[in-house]
Amino acid sequence: MALLVVGSVAFDSIKTPHGQADEVLGGSATYFSMAASWFGPVRVVAVVGEDFGEKQLQVFRSRSIDTAGLERVPGRTFRWRGEYRGDMNEARTLDTQLNVFERFAPKIPPAYLDSDFIFLGNIDPVLQRHVREQLPQARLAALDSMNFWIAGKPDELKKTLRTVDLLLINEGEARMLAGQMNLKKAAAVIRAMGPRSVVIKRGEHGVTLFSGGSVFSAPAYPLDEVLDPTGAGDSFAGGFMGHLARTGDLSEANLRRAVVYGSVMASFAVEEFSLERLLRLTSQEIETRYREFKALTQFDA
Ligand code: AMP
Repeated sequence: MALLVVGSVAFDSIKTPHGQADEVLGGSATYFSMAASWFGPVRVVAVVGEDFGEKQLQVFRSRSIDTAGLERVPGRTFRWRGEYRGDMNEARTLDTQLNVFERFAPKIPPAYLDSDFIFLGNIDPVLQRHVREQLPQARLAALDSMNFWIAGKPDELKKTLRTVDLLLINEGEARMLAGQMNLKKAAAVIRAMGPRSVVIKRGEHGVTLFSGGSVFSAPAYPLDEVLDPTGAGDSFAGGFMGHLARTGDLSEANLRRAVVYGSVMASFAVEEFSLERLLRLTSQEIETRYREFKALTQFDA
């Protein structure tokens, strides 16, 4: 089934205890589409500036990602500068330059209007809603957001939340959005704002899905070294939505499998800086790690 993402395409500058990278390809839509491309075709809606060239486009093309909805306009591409310290569970934003996103009005190419699964990646909630409104028939609309928008545009974010089926959000940001420290209660508060299901991303502690009447938790894959956590959340979302779109199955059991595929993709993303590891993957590596996750969480024969 057709999968569409709207989100940021960025040049990131990142510092972690293991090194740094300047002006590397990043952004929510970028990580999402790279991860999801291992499960099936992906359509991208985003905007870039004149500094975004053939070299960067080629990265998308190398994964057969449909870039008909990637608009190039005069100006500079979105830029984000962040730093991770200590346990690297949280990024410290040092600088956000919206640039071409400031005047962006997402246009869905006619060929994308039949998209069944849509991911409204982390951008201005007003833009997320514009996309959702153009695709009212989608079977599943999922949303991601972050502190920048929760603090900056809380009312717009709440309006957008009313229009989606599922929210993916970091632990600290879930607490901030709900105004509630207890995660179970925070999930309930958020579900009352609109989305039927909530996926709370908890960094090295894994992910918890609140859906229907049940709760499901998956650990994070134990890695010897995390080089760069940037994109973990969006790569999770790419694996999660990629698996759902590939199977077309929205049952509770399949949502759980999707959580594990999301965790698999996030674990690869953080092994190297930028998109390096996601670009070098094989389908076999994905399936092997999926089986390792099974073994990791199984305690009864
Ligand atoms: P995550 O998957 O949560 O680590 O998201 C990482 C990506 O989010 C980075 O590649 C950034 O370019 C992008 N990003 C950071 N801040 C924003 C923002 N305010 N709006 C849109 N994208 C952002």
